[in-house]
Amino acid sequence: MLGLMQRLTQAPNLAIATLWADALAVEGIATSVQRQYLSGLAGELPPDQCLPEVWIRDAGQETRARELLHHLQHVPQRRWLCACGEWVEGGFEQCWSCTRMMPR
Ligand SMILES: [Zn+2]
Repeated sequence: MLGLMQRLTQAPNLAIATLWADALAVEGIATSVQRQYLSGLAGELPPDQCLPEVWIRDAGQETRARELLHHLQHVPQRRWLCACGEWVEGGFEQCWSCTRMMPR
């Protein structure tokens, strides 16, 4: 049950980390998003200490996980500019900043 956890990657923000983690979970790879609790301290820590990380719970799945991650990172980027001024990337249909939905 307790496999060796393995850090898979660092994500640019928590929304994307969660998206990747969910996508991996759908493929049967158990994941865990780490460091999200530091986001509130972002002003006090070096930026690279604050980024969320996606870990996999079983290091034996790393090869498969990296393959999937590669696909996730290279899907044609749907990128749209929200009315609040934030660019929303990574296939989201909802703004991570203000929660508006993508305009249709
Ligand atoms: Zn927005």
